[in-house]
Amino acid sequence: MSDQDKDLEQEMIENEQTDDAPDMNKDDKDGYEDICYICRRPESKAGKMIKIPNNVCICRDCMQKTFDSMSGSGFNLGDFNPANMGFGNMPNISMINLSDLQGMLPRNQQVKKKKPKEKKEKPVLDIHAIPAPHKIKASLDEYIVGQDYAKKVMSVAVYNHYKRVASEANDDIEIEKSNMLMVGPTGSGKTYMVRTLAKLLDVPLAITDATSLTEAGYIGDDIESVVSKLLAPADNDIEKAERGIIFIDEIDKIAKKRNTNQRDVSGESVQQGMLKLLEGADVEVPVGASSKNAMVPMVTVNTRNILFICGGAFEGLDSVIKKRTESSSLGFGGKVKSKEDDNNIMKRVVPHDLVKFGIVPELVGRLPVITVLDELDEDALCRILTEPKNSLIKQYTKLFKLDNIDFEITEDAKREIAKRTIEEKTGARGLRAIVEKILTKLMFEAPSDDEIVGIKITAECVRGEAEPEITRAVSSARKKK
Ligand code: ADP
Repeated sequence: MSDQDKDLEQEMIENEQTDDAPDMNKDDKDGYEDICYICRRPESKAGKMIKIPNNVCICRDCMQKTFDSMSGSGFNLGDFNPANMGFGNMPNISMINLSDLQGMLPRNQQVKKKKPKEKKEKPVLDIHAIPAPHKIKASLDEYIVGQDYAKKVMSVAVYNHYKRVASEANDDIEIEKSNMLMVGPTGSGKTYMVRTLAKLLDVPLAITDATSLTEAGYIGDDIESVVSKLLAPADNDIEKAERGIIFIDEIDKIAKKRNTNQRDVSGESVQQGMLKLLEGADVEVPVGASSKNAMVPMVTVNTRNILFICGGAFEGLDSVIKKRTESSSLGFGGKVKSKEDDNNIMKRVVPHDLVKFGIVPELVGRLPVITVLDELDEDALCRILTEPKNSLIKQYTKLFKLDNIDFEITEDAKREIAKRTIEEKTGARGLRAIVEKILTKLMFEAPSDDEIVGIKITAECVRGEAEPEITRAVSSARKKK
């Protein structure tokens, strides 16, 4: 055995001996816990760590895998005792070069321990006693303005889905899965609606972008990685993850490309790859990482009870629908089209239109519930500013209230903001950016100016023609809490 090996062994013995000493637990006290150098799981997940010099910790799983791959001869970690471990017994060992780790800060090898979760509140809607669709819709109404049709369709789909999950074990009639497709322009609230629903039902939610996916083996996330994203919000509880919701946004961007003779690894192939997941299959996914590799522990997740919701703006779909309806309304049965028809054209979508758009028929078949969201008009945008439970104006009012400042916005100003959002074609997402721009200067100055007691936003401010109206205390300075 070389001198270096001896030193290393001695150091390991010392480490192991001090392991149990009470002062080593000081890390616990300041809320940090060790993480495995290889798989990055914290001690609370991976179990007791084995400490090697330079504050490097390795979990037992990874240590075992390392030994297995080094010796290829059934070294059993159960017999492992660093105190009498001799590297000389194992030929051809090449360990991590510890000198490379010199200078590494101890905190690099630790993650802040999460505070134990306080007693969980009861979810608004309980999926084990799934409430009727009208109750689901009523809960959605508190957060989402307008989109009545979409909310109804969604409530029914969710109700049926979780009823199916609950009845699964004790019946021989299998209810088919009803995944959903949401069609709506950007900023119309597709993601927000799914997010709100998952929060109300207290089920884990994973949101992913179809454009970042590629066929397995190519650069980009492979399709099964969307399932592994569900594990983190489910606290790595597989059973919980198997009842979750996966939202795949921008599904229209992976439509089949026409006139191409190259392999389409991020479009049609991704659609094909999704079929299996949407239908329900056992997939092997890595825990705590987005890509599979030998060192990451894998778990099997069944996607049968996962509700898949796909969303997209489907720009250009209206012309596909128009073409179809025009050709079918020719001749004697033809109807005269009104402006109203033009606005609601998207609502007439049928699965065949989606196939024409470039979604493969098998995928369309696996998304039986199709819902169309309205483009938000001026009225809806004004209501979004003030009505929902956590509306933008309520949020700013609260923020200013914390500094003892009254915040006010006139009706005209709200209309002006809504108009600008429509011009910019950003949907409800643009509202925040506009309000933020108007208020940034004031939010910087007001906390340090004790005299300011009120702020009023007018239509002129929104148009950039005037500054927000400020009310100042006449004599006494604003009291700080
Ligand atoms: P999309 O996914 O359709 O592009 P989002 O769901 O991300 O749009 O919407 C962006 C933001 O706009 C949301 O975070 C939400 O605050 C707001 N929003 C959109 N639609 C509504 C709505 N109908 N009611 C309330 N807020 C909405």
